[in-house]
Amino acid sequence: MPQFSRVILRRSKEDAVKRFHPWIFSGAIKQAEAQDGDIVEVYSDSGEYLATGLYHDSNIAVKILAFHPVTNLDELFANRIQQAVQVRSQLGLTGSETTNCYRLINAEGDNLPGLIVDWYNGTAVIQAYSIGMYGQRQRILAGLQAVYGESLRAVYDKSASVLPRSLGATPEYLLGEKTDEPVREYGHHFQVDWETGQKTGFFLDQREHRQLLTRYASGKQVLNTFSYSGGFSVYALQAGATTVHSVDSSTKAIDLTKQNVALNPLQTGTPEGTHEAFTDDVFVFLKTCDRQYDVIVLDPPAFAKNVSARHQAVMAYKRLNLQAFNRLRSGGVLMTFSCSQVVQRDHFQGAVLAAAIESGRSVRILHHLTQPADHPVNLFHPEGLYLKGLVLWVE
Ligand code: SAH
Repeated sequence: MPQFSRVILRRSKEDAVKRFHPWIFSGAIKQAEAQDGDIVEVYSDSGEYLATGLYHDSNIAVKILAFHPVTNLDELFANRIQQAVQVRSQLGLTGSETTNCYRLINAEGDNLPGLIVDWYNGTAVIQAYSIGMYGQRQRILAGLQAVYGESLRAVYDKSASVLPRSLGATPEYLLGEKTDEPVREYGHHFQVDWETGQKTGFFLDQREHRQLLTRYASGKQVLNTFSYSGGFSVYALQAGATTVHSVDSSTKAIDLTKQNVALNPLQTGTPEGTHEAFTDDVFVFLKTCDRQYDVIVLDPPAFAKNVSARHQAVMAYKRLNLQAFNRLRSGGVLMTFSCSQVVQRDHFQGAVLAAAIESGRSVRILHHLTQPADHPVNLFHPEGLYLKGLVLWVE
Protein backbone atom coordinates (compact mmCIF):
# COMPACT_ATOMS: atom_id res chain seq x y z
CA MET A 1 0.00 0.00 0.00
CA PRO A 2 1.45 3.40 -0.92
CA GLN A 3 2.54 5.69 1.90
CA PHE A 4 0.65 8.95 1.74
CA SER A 5 1.22 12.10 3.77
CA ARG A 6 -1.16 12.51 6.70
CA VAL A 7 -3.59 15.25 7.59
CA ILE A 8 -5.15 15.22 11.05
CA LEU A 9 -8.36 17.06 11.75
CA ARG A 10 -9.18 19.01 14.88
CA ARG A 11 -11.41 17.37 17.42
CA SER A 12 -15.08 17.28 16.31
CA LYS A 13 -14.24 18.65 12.87
CA GLU A 14 -15.02 15.42 11.02
CA ASP A 15 -18.78 15.94 10.57
CA ALA A 16 -18.58 17.29 7.01
CA VAL A 17 -16.31 14.41 5.90
CA LYS A 18 -18.69 11.92 7.44
CA ARG A 19 -21.49 13.49 5.40
CA PHE A 20 -19.32 12.85 2.32
CA HIS A 21 -18.71 16.51 1.56
CA PRO A 22 -15.63 16.47 -0.70
CA TRP A 23 -13.88 19.56 0.74
CA ILE A 24 -11.92 20.03 3.95
CA PHE A 25 -11.40 23.66 4.90
CA SER A 26 -8.10 24.78 6.43
CA GLY A 27 -9.86 25.70 9.70
CA ALA A 28 -10.66 22.02 10.34
CA ILE A 29 -7.02 20.95 10.17
CA LYS A 30 -4.91 20.35 13.25
CA GLN A 31 -1.80 19.05 11.57
CA ALA A 32 -0.69 18.52 7.97
CA GLU A 33 2.61 16.94 7.09
CA ALA A 34 2.16 17.53 3.40
CA GLN A 35 3.35 19.56 0.43
CA ASP A 36 1.02 21.33 -1.98
CA GLY A 37 -0.22 18.83 -4.55
CA ASP A 38 0.38 15.75 -2.36
CA ILE A 39 -2.09 12.92 -2.10
CA VAL A 40 -2.96 12.75 1.60
CA GLU A 41 -4.85 10.51 3.97
CA VAL A 42 -7.13 12.34 6.37
CA TYR A 43 -7.55 11.12 9.96
CA SER A 44 -9.72 12.26 12.85
CA ASP A 45 -8.08 13.52 16.01
CA SER A 46 -8.65 10.10 17.54
CA GLY A 47 -6.81 8.39 14.67
CA GLU A 48 -9.75 7.14 12.60
CA TYR A 49 -9.16 7.03 8.82
CA LEU A 50 -11.64 9.34 7.05
CA ALA A 51 -10.65 10.00 3.46
CA THR A 52 -7.96 10.27 0.79
CA GLY A 53 -7.56 13.46 -1.20
CA LEU A 54 -5.42 16.15 -2.79
CA TYR A 55 -3.73 18.67 -0.51
CA HIS A 56 -3.18 22.38 -1.03
CA ASP A 57 -2.31 24.80 1.77
CA SER A 58 -5.24 27.15 1.07
CA ASN A 59 -8.84 27.78 2.10
CA ILE A 60 -10.00 24.44 0.70
CA ALA A 61 -7.06 22.44 2.02
CA VAL A 62 -8.12 18.95 0.88
CA LYS A 63 -10.28 17.95 -2.06
CA ILE A 64 -11.38 14.40 -1.43
CA LEU A 65 -10.97 11.66 -4.01
CA ALA A 66 -12.24 8.73 -1.94
CA PHE A 67 -13.79 7.99 1.43
CA HIS A 68 -12.02 4.64 1.58
CA PRO A 69 -8.31 3.82 1.70
CA VAL A 70 -6.79 3.93 -1.78
CA THR A 71 -4.32 1.24 -2.71
CA ASN A 72 -4.02 1.88 -6.42
CA LEU A 73 -4.31 5.41 -7.78
CA ASP A 74 -4.12 4.32 -11.43
CA GLU A 75 -7.15 2.16 -10.83
CA LEU A 76 -9.00 4.90 -8.95
CA PHE A 77 -8.64 7.38 -11.83
CA ALA A 78 -9.41 4.75 -14.46
CA ASN A 79 -12.58 3.74 -12.57
CA ARG A 80 -13.79 7.28 -12.07
CA ILE A 81 -13.33 8.07 -15.76
CA GLN A 82 -15.01 4.85 -16.76
CA GLN A 83 -18.00 5.62 -14.51
CA ALA A 84 -18.28 9.11 -16.01
CA VAL A 85 -18.28 7.69 -19.54
CA GLN A 86 -20.93 5.18 -18.51
CA VAL A 87 -23.23 8.03 -17.48
CA ARG A 88 -22.68 9.87 -20.79
CA SER A 89 -23.31 6.65 -22.63
CA GLN A 90 -26.59 6.18 -20.73
CA LEU A 91 -27.51 9.73 -21.77
CA GLY A 92 -27.01 8.78 -25.40
CA LEU A 93 -24.11 11.20 -25.80
CA THR A 94 -21.37 8.74 -26.67
CA GLY A 95 -21.77 7.28 -30.12
CA SER A 96 -24.48 9.79 -31.08
CA GLU A 97 -24.72 10.75 -34.76
CA THR A 98 -26.10 14.20 -34.05
CA THR A 99 -24.12 15.27 -30.96
CA ASN A 100 -20.41 14.56 -30.62
CA CYS A 101 -19.45 17.05 -27.91
CA TYR A 102 -20.31 16.86 -24.21
CA ARG A 103 -18.89 17.31 -20.71
CA LEU A 104 -17.14 14.12 -19.77
CA ILE A 105 -15.89 14.95 -16.27
CA ASN A 106 -17.69 17.54 -14.18
CA ALA A 107 -15.34 17.81 -11.20
CA GLU A 108 -17.02 17.00 -7.85
CA GLY A 109 -20.11 15.93 -9.81
CA ASP A 110 -18.07 13.02 -11.18
CA ASN A 111 -16.08 12.42 -7.99
CA LEU A 112 -12.93 14.01 -9.41
CA PRO A 113 -12.79 17.36 -7.55
CA GLY A 114 -11.16 20.18 -9.47
CA LEU A 115 -11.14 18.39 -12.83
CA ILE A 116 -13.07 19.36 -15.94
CA VAL A 117 -12.82 17.32 -19.13
CA ASP A 118 -14.85 18.25 -22.18
CA TRP A 119 -15.13 15.98 -25.20
CA TYR A 120 -15.05 17.48 -28.69
CA ASN A 121 -15.39 14.72 -31.24
CA GLY A 122 -12.24 12.81 -30.36
CA THR A 123 -10.38 15.61 -28.57
CA ALA A 124 -10.55 15.72 -24.79
CA VAL A 125 -9.86 19.17 -23.33
CA ILE A 126 -8.67 19.08 -19.72
CA GLN A 127 -8.74 21.78 -17.08
CA ALA A 128 -7.24 20.89 -13.69
CA TYR A 129 -8.15 23.57 -11.18
CA SER A 130 -5.66 22.52 -8.46
CA ILE A 131 -1.98 21.72 -8.33
CA GLY A 132 -2.85 18.28 -6.98
CA MET A 133 -5.13 17.42 -9.89
CA TYR A 134 -2.63 18.94 -12.32
CA GLY A 135 -0.08 16.45 -11.02
CA GLN A 136 -2.40 13.59 -11.99
CA ARG A 137 -2.45 14.34 -15.72
CA GLN A 138 -0.73 11.15 -16.79
CA ARG A 139 -3.27 9.08 -14.87
CA ILE A 140 -6.10 11.07 -16.44
CA LEU A 141 -4.60 10.51 -19.89
CA ALA A 142 -4.21 6.78 -19.23
CA GLY A 143 -7.80 6.55 -17.95
CA LEU A 144 -9.12 8.30 -21.07
CA GLN A 145 -7.10 6.04 -23.37
CA ALA A 146 -8.34 2.96 -21.55
CA VAL A 147 -12.01 3.80 -22.18
CA TYR A 148 -11.90 5.47 -25.56
CA GLY A 149 -9.07 3.56 -27.25
CA GLU A 150 -8.57 4.68 -30.85
CA SER A 151 -11.45 7.13 -30.80
CA LEU A 152 -9.39 9.38 -28.49
CA ARG A 153 -7.37 11.31 -31.06
CA ALA A 154 -6.05 14.18 -28.95
CA VAL A 155 -5.86 15.40 -25.37
CA TYR A 156 -5.29 19.11 -24.86
CA ASP A 157 -4.32 20.30 -21.40
CA LYS A 158 -5.66 23.80 -20.83
CA SER A 159 -5.05 23.90 -17.07
CA ALA A 160 -2.61 26.82 -17.42
CA SER A 161 -5.56 29.16 -18.01
CA VAL A 162 -7.10 28.35 -14.62
CA LEU A 163 -4.03 27.70 -12.42
CA PRO A 164 -1.86 30.35 -10.73
CA ARG A 165 0.89 31.54 -13.07
CA SER A 166 3.53 30.74 -10.43
CA LEU A 167 2.99 27.01 -11.05
CA GLY A 168 4.47 27.45 -14.51
CA ALA A 169 1.89 25.23 -16.23
CA THR A 170 1.90 25.50 -20.01
CA PRO A 171 -0.95 24.65 -22.36
CA GLU A 172 -0.01 21.56 -24.35
CA TYR A 173 -1.22 18.47 -26.18
CA LEU A 174 -0.67 15.38 -24.02
CA LEU A 175 -1.70 13.33 -27.04
CA GLY A 176 -2.20 14.05 -30.73
CA GLU A 177 -2.57 17.50 -32.20
CA LYS A 178 -5.01 20.27 -33.09
CA THR A 179 -7.85 19.51 -35.45
CA ASP A 180 -10.14 22.01 -37.14
CA GLU A 181 -13.09 19.77 -37.78
CA PRO A 182 -16.34 21.32 -36.50
CA VAL A 183 -18.29 19.50 -33.80
CA ARG A 184 -21.97 18.61 -34.00
CA GLU A 185 -24.64 19.38 -31.43
CA TYR A 186 -28.18 18.20 -32.20
CA GLY A 187 -27.10 18.15 -35.83
CA HIS A 188 -25.86 21.76 -35.82
CA HIS A 189 -22.22 22.46 -36.68
CA PHE A 190 -19.86 24.51 -34.54
CA GLN A 191 -16.23 25.45 -34.88
CA VAL A 192 -14.70 25.13 -31.42
CA ASP A 193 -11.37 26.77 -30.68
CA TRP A 194 -10.32 25.13 -27.43
CA GLU A 195 -6.85 26.68 -27.55
CA THR A 196 -7.90 30.33 -27.49
CA GLY A 197 -11.64 30.21 -26.77
CA GLN A 198 -13.36 30.87 -23.44
CA LYS A 199 -13.51 27.98 -20.95
CA THR A 200 -12.75 24.83 -22.97
CA GLY A 201 -14.01 26.51 -26.14
CA PHE A 202 -17.77 26.00 -26.10
CA PHE A 203 -20.62 26.43 -23.60
CA LEU A 204 -21.73 22.83 -23.51
CA ASP A 205 -23.97 23.51 -20.52
CA GLN A 206 -26.51 25.34 -22.70
CA ARG A 207 -27.08 22.46 -25.15
CA GLU A 208 -30.56 21.49 -23.92
CA HIS A 209 -31.66 25.12 -23.67
CA ARG A 210 -30.53 25.87 -27.22
CA GLN A 211 -32.66 22.92 -28.26
CA LEU A 212 -35.58 24.21 -26.17
CA LEU A 213 -35.34 27.57 -27.95
CA THR A 214 -36.27 25.87 -31.22
CA ARG A 215 -39.82 25.40 -29.86
CA TYR A 216 -40.26 29.14 -29.55
CA ALA A 217 -38.23 30.55 -32.44
CA SER A 218 -40.11 29.61 -35.62
CA GLY A 219 -41.41 32.67 -37.45
CA LYS A 220 -40.12 34.93 -34.67
CA GLN A 221 -37.76 37.88 -34.27
CA VAL A 222 -35.12 36.66 -31.86
CA LEU A 223 -32.46 38.56 -29.92
CA ASN A 224 -29.55 36.49 -28.58
CA THR A 225 -27.53 38.52 -26.11
CA PHE A 226 -24.08 37.50 -24.77
CA SER A 227 -23.94 35.29 -27.86
CA TYR A 228 -20.30 34.08 -27.55
CA SER A 229 -19.96 31.53 -30.37
CA GLY A 230 -23.57 31.95 -31.48
CA GLY A 231 -25.07 28.71 -30.17
CA PHE A 232 -28.57 30.05 -29.52
CA SER A 233 -28.45 32.07 -32.77
CA VAL A 234 -27.71 29.02 -34.92
CA TYR A 235 -30.54 27.01 -33.36
CA ALA A 236 -33.01 29.90 -33.74
CA LEU A 237 -32.12 30.37 -37.41
CA GLN A 238 -32.39 26.67 -38.14
CA ALA A 239 -35.76 26.59 -36.39
CA GLY A 240 -37.06 29.18 -38.83
CA ALA A 241 -36.73 32.49 -37.00
CA THR A 242 -37.40 35.39 -39.37
CA THR A 243 -34.68 37.55 -37.77
CA VAL A 244 -31.89 36.75 -35.35
CA HIS A 245 -29.77 39.47 -33.79
CA SER A 246 -26.66 38.42 -31.86
CA VAL A 247 -24.94 40.77 -29.42
CA ASP A 248 -21.60 40.34 -27.65
CA SER A 249 -19.03 42.89 -26.49
CA SER A 250 -16.13 40.78 -27.74
CA THR A 251 -15.12 41.13 -31.40
CA LYS A 252 -13.72 37.62 -31.30
CA ALA A 253 -17.06 36.26 -30.04
CA ILE A 254 -18.93 38.07 -32.80
CA ASP A 255 -16.51 36.63 -35.38
CA LEU A 256 -17.14 33.15 -33.96
CA THR A 257 -20.90 33.76 -34.06
CA LYS A 258 -20.72 34.77 -37.73
CA GLN A 259 -18.49 31.83 -38.55
CA ASN A 260 -20.90 29.37 -36.93
CA VAL A 261 -23.95 30.91 -38.57
CA ALA A 262 -22.15 30.47 -41.92
CA LEU A 263 -21.34 26.84 -41.06
CA ASN A 264 -25.06 26.09 -40.88
CA PRO A 265 -26.50 27.28 -44.19
CA LEU A 266 -30.23 27.79 -44.19
CA GLN A 267 -32.53 25.92 -46.47
CA THR A 268 -33.38 27.70 -49.69
CA GLY A 269 -36.19 30.15 -49.50
CA THR A 270 -35.03 31.81 -46.31
CA PRO A 271 -34.52 35.53 -46.97
CA GLU A 272 -31.06 37.09 -46.96
CA GLY A 273 -30.07 39.17 -43.97
CA THR A 274 -31.89 36.99 -41.47
CA HIS A 275 -28.92 37.18 -39.12
CA GLU A 276 -27.19 40.33 -37.93
CA ALA A 277 -24.40 40.51 -35.35
CA PHE A 278 -23.57 43.50 -33.16
CA THR A 279 -20.36 44.08 -31.21
CA ASP A 280 -21.78 46.00 -28.28
CA ASP A 281 -22.32 46.04 -24.56
CA VAL A 282 -25.67 44.32 -23.98
CA PHE A 283 -26.78 46.87 -21.38
CA VAL A 284 -26.12 49.69 -23.87
CA PHE A 285 -27.66 47.78 -26.78
CA LEU A 286 -30.90 47.09 -24.89
CA LYS A 287 -31.14 50.65 -23.66
CA THR A 288 -30.51 52.33 -26.98
CA CYS A 289 -32.07 50.03 -29.55
CA ASP A 290 -35.55 50.96 -30.70
CA ARG A 291 -36.64 47.49 -31.81
CA GLN A 292 -39.02 45.05 -30.18
CA TYR A 293 -38.45 41.28 -30.24
CA ASP A 294 -40.63 38.18 -29.88
CA VAL A 295 -37.95 36.13 -28.12
CA ILE A 296 -34.94 37.31 -26.09
CA VAL A 297 -32.15 35.12 -24.71
CA LEU A 298 -30.16 36.56 -21.79
CA ASP A 299 -27.12 34.43 -20.98
CA PRO A 300 -24.65 36.75 -19.25
CA PRO A 301 -21.30 35.68 -17.77
CA ALA A 302 -21.19 35.10 -13.98
CA PHE A 303 -21.83 38.53 -12.45
CA ALA A 304 -20.60 37.39 -9.00
CA LYS A 305 -17.53 35.24 -8.41
CA ASN A 306 -17.90 35.30 -4.60
CA VAL A 307 -20.47 35.96 -1.90
CA SER A 308 -19.33 39.53 -1.29
CA ALA A 309 -20.25 40.41 -4.89
CA ARG A 310 -23.67 38.77 -4.67
CA HIS A 311 -25.77 41.82 -3.90
CA GLN A 312 -24.28 43.79 -6.80
CA ALA A 313 -24.85 40.81 -9.06
CA VAL A 314 -28.51 40.47 -8.10
CA MET A 315 -28.98 44.18 -8.85
CA ALA A 316 -27.32 43.69 -12.25
CA TYR A 317 -29.62 40.74 -13.06
CA LYS A 318 -32.59 42.93 -12.16
CA ARG A 319 -31.43 45.78 -14.44
CA LEU A 320 -30.69 43.42 -17.31
CA ASN A 321 -34.00 41.59 -17.10
CA LEU A 322 -35.93 44.86 -16.82
CA GLN A 323 -34.28 46.11 -20.01
CA ALA A 324 -35.20 42.84 -21.73
CA PHE A 325 -38.85 43.07 -20.61
CA ASN A 326 -38.92 46.55 -22.14
CA ARG A 327 -37.80 45.14 -25.51
CA LEU A 328 -40.30 42.26 -25.64
CA ARG A 329 -43.57 42.29 -27.55
CA SER A 330 -46.74 41.15 -25.83
CA GLY A 331 -46.88 37.36 -26.04
CA GLY A 332 -43.09 37.32 -26.10
CA VAL A 333 -40.73 34.82 -24.56
CA LEU A 334 -37.75 35.61 -22.34
CA MET A 335 -35.12 32.93 -21.74
CA THR A 336 -33.06 34.24 -18.87
CA PHE A 337 -30.06 32.67 -17.10
CA SER A 338 -27.61 33.09 -14.27
CA CYS A 339 -24.45 31.01 -14.06
CA SER A 340 -23.15 32.68 -10.87
CA GLN A 341 -22.76 29.85 -8.38
CA VAL A 342 -23.21 32.17 -5.37
CA VAL A 343 -26.48 33.57 -6.72
CA GLN A 344 -29.01 30.94 -5.77
CA ARG A 345 -32.24 30.20 -7.58
CA ASP A 346 -34.40 32.20 -5.18
CA HIS A 347 -32.07 35.23 -5.42
CA PHE A 348 -32.19 35.03 -9.19
CA GLN A 349 -35.94 34.57 -9.39
CA GLY A 350 -36.30 37.47 -6.93
CA ALA A 351 -34.27 39.70 -9.26
CA VAL A 352 -36.44 38.70 -12.24
CA LEU A 353 -39.57 39.28 -10.12
CA ALA A 354 -38.38 42.78 -9.17
CA ALA A 355 -37.73 43.52 -12.86
CA ALA A 356 -41.18 42.25 -13.84
CA ILE A 357 -42.88 44.38 -11.17
CA GLU A 358 -41.06 47.48 -12.39
CA SER A 359 -41.90 46.71 -16.02
CA GLY A 360 -45.58 46.34 -15.21
CA ARG A 361 -45.81 43.26 -17.46
CA SER A 362 -47.75 40.10 -16.70
CA VAL A 363 -45.27 37.23 -16.57
CA ARG A 364 -45.69 33.46 -16.36
CA ILE A 365 -42.96 30.86 -15.80
CA LEU A 366 -43.04 28.17 -18.49
CA HIS A 367 -39.83 26.31 -17.64
CA HIS A 368 -37.42 26.15 -14.71
CA LEU A 369 -34.01 25.34 -16.16
CA THR A 370 -30.77 24.04 -14.74
CA GLN A 371 -27.53 22.45 -15.88
CA PRO A 372 -27.85 19.35 -18.08
CA ALA A 373 -27.19 15.77 -17.00
CA ASP A 374 -23.64 15.72 -18.36
CA HIS A 375 -22.92 18.44 -15.74
CA PRO A 376 -24.10 16.35 -12.77
CA VAL A 377 -24.17 17.64 -9.22
CA ASN A 378 -22.86 15.47 -6.39
CA LEU A 379 -25.71 15.27 -3.88
CA PHE A 380 -23.19 15.69 -1.07
CA HIS A 381 -21.78 18.85 -2.72
CA PRO A 382 -24.65 21.23 -3.47
CA GLU A 383 -22.08 23.93 -4.37
CA GLY A 384 -21.78 22.16 -7.72
CA LEU A 385 -25.13 23.58 -8.83
CA TYR A 386 -24.51 26.83 -10.68
CA LEU A 387 -26.77 27.22 -13.71
CA LYS A 388 -30.29 28.58 -13.25
CA GLY A 389 -32.70 29.65 -15.90
CA LEU A 390 -36.29 30.62 -16.49
CA VAL A 391 -38.37 30.65 -19.63
CA LEU A 392 -41.01 33.33 -19.23
CA TRP A 393 -44.15 34.17 -21.18
CA VAL A 394 -44.55 37.91 -21.11
CA GLU A 395 -47.87 39.64 -21.92
N1 SAH B 1 -24.70 32.07 -24.60
C1 SAH B 1 -23.37 31.69 -24.98
C2 SAH B 1 -22.39 31.79 -23.83
C3 SAH B 1 -22.28 33.17 -23.19
S1 SAH B 1 -20.76 33.44 -22.39
C4 SAH B 1 -23.39 30.30 -25.61
O1 SAH B 1 -24.44 29.61 -25.59
O2 SAH B 1 -22.36 29.88 -26.11
C5 SAH B 1 -20.84 35.11 -22.01
C6 SAH B 1 -20.49 36.06 -23.15
O3 SAH B 1 -20.83 37.38 -22.71
C7 SAH B 1 -19.02 36.14 -23.55
O4 SAH B 1 -18.90 35.88 -24.92
C8 SAH B 1 -18.59 37.60 -23.27
O5 SAH B 1 -17.75 38.13 -24.28
C9 SAH B 1 -19.92 38.31 -23.27
N2 SAH B 1 -20.04 39.53 -22.46
C10 SAH B 1 -19.60 39.72 -21.18
N3 SAH B 1 -20.04 40.93 -20.73
C11 SAH B 1 -20.74 41.51 -21.75
C12 SAH B 1 -21.45 42.74 -21.91
N4 SAH B 1 -21.55 43.62 -20.89
N5 SAH B 1 -22.05 42.99 -23.08
C13 SAH B 1 -21.99 42.10 -24.09
N6 SAH B 1 -21.34 40.91 -24.01
C14 SAH B 1 -20.73 40.62 -22.85
